Amino acid sequence: MSEKIYDVLIVGGGISGTALFYELAEYTDLKNIALVEKYGEIAHINSNARGNSQTLHCGDIETNYTLYKAKKVKITANMVFRYCKKYDYLDDILTKIPKMAFGVGKAEVAYIQTRQKAFSELYPYMRLIEEDELALLEPNLVNIDGKPRSEPVIAMGTDTEYSAIDFGRLANSFVKNAQEISNKNCDVHLNTKVENMIKEDNGTYLVKTSNGNFRAKFVVVNAGAHSLYLAHKMGYGLKYSALPIAGRFYHAPIDLLNSKVYTVQHEKLPFAAVHGDPDIMYKDKMRFGPTALPLMRLELFKGGTFSEFLESLKFDKNVAEVLWSLFKNSDIMKYILTNIMYEIPIFGKYLFLQNAKKIIPSLKYSDLTYAKKAGGLRPQVIDKIAKRLILGEASIQTGKGLNFNMTPSPGATSCLGNAKIDVEIIVKYLGCKYHHSKLIDELIGEENIIKPK
Ligand SMILES: Cc1cc2nc3c(=O)[nH]c(=O)nc-3n(C[C@H](O)[C@H](O)[C@H](O)COP(=O)(O)OP(=O)(O)OC[C@H]3O[C@@H](n4cnc5c(N)ncnc54)[C@H](O)[C@@H]3O)c2cc1C
Repeated sequence: MSEKIYDVLIVGGGISGTALFYELAEYTDLKNIALVEKYGEIAHINSNARGNSQTLHCGDIETNYTLYKAKKVKITANMVFRYCKKYDYLDDILTKIPKMAFGVGKAEVAYIQTRQKAFSELYPYMRLIEEDELALLEPNLVNIDGKPRSEPVIAMGTDTEYSAIDFGRLANSFVKNAQEISNKNCDVHLNTKVENMIKEDNGTYLVKTSNGNFRAKFVVVNAGAHSLYLAHKMGYGLKYSALPIAGRFYHAPIDLLNSKVYTVQHEKLPFAAVHGDPDIMYKDKMRFGPTALPLMRLELFKGGTFSEFLESLKFDKNVAEVLWSLFKNSDIMKYILTNIMYEIPIFGKYLFLQNAKKIIPSLKYSDLTYAKKAGGLRPQVIDKIAKRLILGEASIQTGKGLNFNMTPSPGATSCLGNAKIDVEIIVKYLGCKYHHSKLIDELIGEENIIKPK
């Protein structure tokens, strides 16, 4: 195996690892960068278009965000848009599908009206779509067998923005574009599982893999649910525990909806509300979901990770207390139990149908088919000392040339924004050159930087 010492080695070829690979290659003068992925392809699991909802979350239809969070999310989503524009991927990897946040019933109608006004400066293109217009744009949201539904409905939406994205293809494009930069050595090692990392006396890391050993001055672990497992192995992040939550989907015929329809989020359950999305992988299908099921493994469709699950859960009294405080909340308890019941054959689909009927009240049992091999898994990180869930980003920066990123927030959308955080830490640690103004100019735009208060 190669004796060369990489400047940076990234563990994990999902959207987070590949975005960092690209940013380091494009915006620093580092010459030797490695990406190590245990499977035989990039974006094989959660970052694949099968694994997620294919939405560029910019905060306009995600009603769980505060205005402050929405401003941050908009910038990081915009980085993906600007990257796609730079490489001519618009209307290809990133496409326009109409999108809306949809309110049902008096309280939600009032909520959407207030929110649209409050966020109109940030999202001037989001307009209120009243029932009459909705009936023309999305008749299935409004009618039951030709008659209007009993509750009032409203949406705030747009058809002018880029909203649907294939994160798997995006990840592959990061790798390709990094490798095409001249005078750089950007190596990708597939089918290479990192087993452990050892800090050597000279400060480099010896990275032990299933495919031989590598050395690197800086290591970033972007291994999804496995990040905390690897951190624990090295004695880091012991105050954290990870509870894997799987999300799956149902397919339905595409002619039911034209838009991405996100329902109003429950304040105690961020990202739990059902949504309907045209599936970019299949022209004739749309998806409803996701469901949310606690799992005792670190990958949704592969077994063999039970011991790794136990190791990253590190169950103890504090974890039990956090879980108990969740179960005590009747809304959360109901949500968890309902999601567990979705797994029961026949009855589970019937139950899910009742949930999806919030979007399309005339939806039938026969319209839904379980979307096979579609879905992903998010590690829900628990802070055992603070005894609470970490709802946003979760990372461990050791200050010793080693970072672990466990879960990006709001998901794959924040890949380039999170990579920027790592790039800045790496630049400081290794003392290399950072083409910061080029990055601002190309991916952010001076006018979009949030100035500290
Ligand atoms: C149901 C669902 C819907 C979602 N929808 C959206 C959405 O619409 N929009 C959005 O922005 N986000 C969404 N997300 C979140 C998003 O999918 C994830 O945040 C994102 O894909 C995580 O990317 P990642 O690169 O950090 O991790 P992953 O994609 O999990 O990649 C980690 C990689 O590390 C590799 N790896 C693991 N261990 C090792 C090892 N020991 N050695 C080498 N390699 C290793 C894995 O094989 C994998 O390729 C959704 C998530 C779920 C569950």
